[in-house]
Amino acid sequence: MMVYGAIEAGGTKFVVAVGDEKGNIIKRETYKTTEPAETMQQVIQFFKQYESDLKAIGIGSFGPIDIRKDSKTYGYITHTPKLAWRNYNIVGALKNEFNVPMGFTTDVNAAALGEVKLGAAKGLESCIYVTIGTGIGGGAVVRGEILEGFSHPEMGHIMVKRHKHDRFTGNCPSHDDCLEGLAAGGAIEKRFGKKSALLADNEEVWNLEAHYLAQAVMNYTLTLSPERIVLGGGVMKQRQLFPLIRQKLKGLMNQYVKLPPLDEYIVPPMLEDDAGITGCVILAVQTYEKEQ
Ligand code: ADP
Ligand code: ZN
Repeated sequence: MMVYGAIEAGGTKFVVAVGDEKGNIIKRETYKTTEPAETMQQVIQFFKQYESDLKAIGIGSFGPIDIRKDSKTYGYITHTPKLAWRNYNIVGALKNEFNVPMGFTTDVNAAALGEVKLGAAKGLESCIYVTIGTGIGGGAVVRGEILEGFSHPEMGHIMVKRHKHDRFTGNCPSHDDCLEGLAAGGAIEKRFGKKSALLADNEEVWNLEAHYLAQAVMNYTLTLSPERIVLGGGVMKQRQLFPLIRQKLKGLMNQYVKLPPLDEYIVPPMLEDDAGITGCVILAVQTYEKEQ
C-alpha cells in the first residue's frame, strides 16, 4: 500500500502522520519540540517504518520559513525566536533520509488546505484560514492550491485602525499597530492582565477583539475574495466572537460588496486540531502528483 507522509512542525509539538490519497490519516504520532537533532530523530524513525510505501512528504512548519525554490536556504526555518531551530534546514534533514518529493509550507497554509479539502470549506475552491492564538497567522487556498508569492503570506501582521479608546501599546516587536500586536491572545493578556479564557464574561474584551478581527476579515475579503474564511486558534474558542465579527464586518463593508451569507462566510474550523496535519497529507499528495 502507498502512503503519504505529513509533518506538522509546531513550536511546542511535532505531529507526524501517514495518510491516504484522500487525506485520511492512517497512523499518527506526536513528539515534543526540543532540539532539532532529538525531535527530527523521532520524526525520521517514524517514517522509516513506512519507507518502502512512502510516496511523498508534506511539511507544514512554524515560521518564518524559506519557501523560495531558487534560494540557497530553501527548506529552512529562518529567524524564529526558537533559537535551537533558527536557520535549521528541515527539508534538507529529511532529504538526507528519504528520496521522495517534499512539499514545504507554513502551518497555517497547511491548515487552510486541510479545511478546504476535508473541513469547514469542503467543496469550495478557495478559503482563508486564520488562527488567533498566542500570535496570529493566516493562509489562503486559491483554486484548490496554497497561495504563495515571493514568500508566504503573513496575514497576522496587517495594519488595522486602532480603537479610539485602546491605549495598549501593542505586543508586536516589529510593528506599532498590526493585528497580531493588538488582537492575538498575547495582546489580550497583556492589555487586560489576565488569561484570555478568564475574560469570557467581560464584554469590553470581546467587543474590542471583534473590532480588530472584523477589520482583518474585511481586508482579506477585499483583497482575495475567498469563498469562506475559517477563524480558529485558542482565542476563537470564545464563540461569542463569531456573531460580533459578522455584525461589525457588515457595518464596515457598508454593502460595498455583496457577501455570501455571513454565518456561512465566517466560520469556525471543522477539523480543529487535525486541520494542519490533514493539510500536510494533502500537500504531500499534490506534490507527488505534480512530480509525475
Ligand atoms: P498557539 O497559538 O500557542 O499555537 P492556541 O491556538 O491554543 O495555541 O492559542 C493560545 C492562546 O489562546 C493563548 O493566548 C490562550 O490564552 C488563548 N486561549 C486558549 N483557550 C482559550 C479560551 N477558551 N478562551 C480564550 N482564549 C483562549
Ligand atoms: Zn506585527
